[in-house]
Amino acid sequence: MTGPTAPSNSTGATHPLALAPVIAPPSTVDGFVREFLQNLNLERGVTLSASNPNDRYIALAYTVRDYLVARWLEDQRRQRETQAKGVCYLSAEYLLGRQLDNNLLASGLTDIATDALAACGIDIGELRELEVEPGLGNGGLGRLAACFIDSLATMSVPNVGYGIRYEYGIFRQTFVGGQQVEQPDAWLSLGSPWEFPHPEAAQTISFGGHTETYDDGGVTRNRWVPGWDVEAVPYNYMVPGYQNGRVNTLRLWSAKATNSFDLRVFNSGDYEEAVRAQTFAENISKVLYPEDSTPQGKELRLQQQYFFVAASIRDFLDHQLLPDFDLTKLPERVIFQLNDTHPVIAVPEFMRVLTDEKGMDWDAAWAITQQCFAYTCHTLLPEALEVWSVDLLGRLLPRHLEIIYRINEEFLVAVRERFGDDEMRIRNMSIISEFPERSVRMAYLATVAGAKVNGVAELHSQLLRDKVLPDFDEFYPGKFTNVTNGITPRRFVRLANPQLSGLITEALGGGWLTDMERLRELEAYAEDPDFRAAFAEVKAANKRRLNDVLLARDGFEVSDGHMLDVMVKRLHEYKRQMLKLLHIVTAYEGIVSGAVAASDVQPRTFIFGAKAAPGYAMAKRIIHLINAVGSVVNDDPRVEGRLKVLFPPNYNVTLAERLIPAADLSEQISLAGKEASGTGNMKFALNGALTIGTDDGANVEIRQLVGDDNFFLFGMSEPEVEGLWARGYKPSEFYQADDHLRRAIDLIASGAFSDGDKSVFEPIVSNLLYDDRFMVLADYSAYIDAQAKVDAAYADQDAWTRSAILNVARCGFFSSDRSMRDYIERIWHTPPSL
Ligand SMILES: *Cc1c(COP(=O)(O)O)cnc(C)c1O
Repeated sequence: MTGPTAPSNSTGATHPLALAPVIAPPSTVDGFVREFLQNLNLERGVTLSASNPNDRYIALAYTVRDYLVARWLEDQRRQRETQAKGVCYLSAEYLLGRQLDNNLLASGLTDIATDALAACGIDIGELRELEVEPGLGNGGLGRLAACFIDSLATMSVPNVGYGIRYEYGIFRQTFVGGQQVEQPDAWLSLGSPWEFPHPEAAQTISFGGHTETYDDGGVTRNRWVPGWDVEAVPYNYMVPGYQNGRVNTLRLWSAKATNSFDLRVFNSGDYEEAVRAQTFAENISKVLYPEDSTPQGKELRLQQQYFFVAASIRDFLDHQLLPDFDLTKLPERVIFQLNDTHPVIAVPEFMRVLTDEKGMDWDAAWAITQQCFAYTCHTLLPEALEVWSVDLLGRLLPRHLEIIYRINEEFLVAVRERFGDDEMRIRNMSIISEFPERSVRMAYLATVAGAKVNGVAELHSQLLRDKVLPDFDEFYPGKFTNVTNGITPRRFVRLANPQLSGLITEALGGGWLTDMERLRELEAYAEDPDFRAAFAEVKAANKRRLNDVLLARDGFEVSDGHMLDVMVKRLHEYKRQMLKLLHIVTAYEGIVSGAVAASDVQPRTFIFGAKAAPGYAMAKRIIHLINAVGSVVNDDPRVEGRLKVLFPPNYNVTLAERLIPAADLSEQISLAGKEASGTGNMKFALNGALTIGTDDGANVEIRQLVGDDNFFLFGMSEPEVEGLWARGYKPSEFYQADDHLRRAIDLIASGAFSDGDKSVFEPIVSNLLYDDRFMVLADYSAYIDAQAKVDAAYADQDAWTRSAILNVARCGFFSSDRSMRDYIERIWHTPPSL
């Protein structure tokens, strides 16, 4: 830690301690012990001997915090002073994972804390397991936001992440009779030691009402007269960089009833109504919508979106800027990055604040807005492009609707100037769509307003330009760009896989964790038999560790000598868990029909992890079928234990950190053109799993980097998919033509996995045979062939290990540090920071 900078002593303080702006405890075991015991006494009100494990966990968390706070306050002070250009990352989701280990690692305190607790007779490992991860996201999109803020802090880039502090995060998944049952995720119930609530800094956020014009000294101006409001209370989280002394901020908003709202009703003597009003207000941040890649057209969701972006913009303008800041200079001071369309209502809000509240004229405000926002698109699925009905927007945010109309009007004038009165094109490009009901296309609004629009992998960005927004690409040359996603190596390599990290450091020395291209140096080690043996031993140790975790968690055992074949991600038809399942059923059917001797089968354990959106019936049925196949296959003596299917419930970041380092094979088998990027694929490759995958999302780039020899490619390419649709896809023809496929589907249809009941999985079977939107049957035979190659390759363990090492060596590109460098260079243009 560097010494304190001279404070501006405006308090009249004279004591030397008060003159230091920040105070951190000494970084020694004794210092840590003292701080920890003090926190137990002062914050928990217990002695060590009277404390329970949760007391100890919370006191430990407070202690780690105490070390980081000093730097955090200092970084905030410096940012206020320098007013350096920073990034406001607007995201409705942050899938953070556990905080304790990450914060220990970032602050360099892991060993000190471990020793200090041991000296108090406490095993830090036990406390670690008590932390409930904040599951404030659904899947890849929310995890990406968490990786990005980690990288920005590690690269010392000024950044505030803004989002929502959901009281209930993503549901906890349990299985009852093999079917998903959702439990509420009360992650706050035992206390949340990583957050700093600031009720005194609450913002009032308004909704409803009407708009009006008024005369302002001869100028007609607009204003919004809202109907009701809620308070947005900020909760700050520290986002420490990796051992660089930098601490950025994540600011999550929680909804609370406003006092005026309460008082008015209380004073009228209606207690019940007052409580109802409070519940209504607080509902806004009550629960995360558990949909992944399909929007839910819920009014409450729009309330959530506006709630958090309005609070964030106000927070930035009123509290991050110096009081006399010249607003025309905003583009030199900030970029708001829109993580998908969820925060896009920030665009009209920003315009409203600049024009209605700050008195700026429209054209000037629009010019600034177009430089201060950038938009990341995360999908290609047409059903996932968010729209809001004009009716709802007009009721909830009437002034914003007017602003959107004006943006659209001026945009369409410009389109006409450029393309002539091509009504078809005008209709296609309008931010307002007319069918099936009048609504606002949020992705179009973001594209018109954003300085840049990026996709999240090369293929995705190309398809975005060619297929989703081609008119916009033509209209705005240079606006579209790509930034391939990444993952933070701190969490997904260093923390998740300490043994591999140790092996890499032994080989390369330190420094690689923040310079992942250096992993290239491991290529030479792939040729070294000793290194291969050590690498294989790390994989084996990770499997044993996973065995312990799954045994304790779910009573599952991971058999020795099995290939670990892992498919973990949200359950969605486009990701094609069904294809994986057909492979398993085919392998099983081969054994029970006698076509294949069990003793000839390469032993494999298939692991699934997946939550289905509670309202997504087909996804839930597929979960049921996976569990049903698992219980039959695992218990059938004819299989001789050579195939096992494990489906630990409640896949989350914590489980990902245990599963991925143990995996041999990574399943990335979406239909080409459907997965925007994927980030799970990157986590696996960097942990030395080989990928079996389609040419989709970032798989394309993984394969290009690791080479065809170290990747199992199969299936149709995106143009081939389009070609098959154009010719007319009939899944039943594939069923008829392929014996293995027919037998697998027939086995499911026969009730073999449902105690003879043919009706349970009939909807899955008929969906595959007569609809199959994601072309599972068309890719089946290529997939089975590729899996045979996997088996053959795995038989040569040494060659497999060599490939696994090359995967690690060549995937440094997928560090989210690299993603951040690309954003800075292509989109943000933030200068290098101190
Ligand atoms: C990385 C991650 C995801 C994203 O996985 P994909 O395979 O890219 O869909 C989802 N959930 C969790 C918990 C993750 O860590």
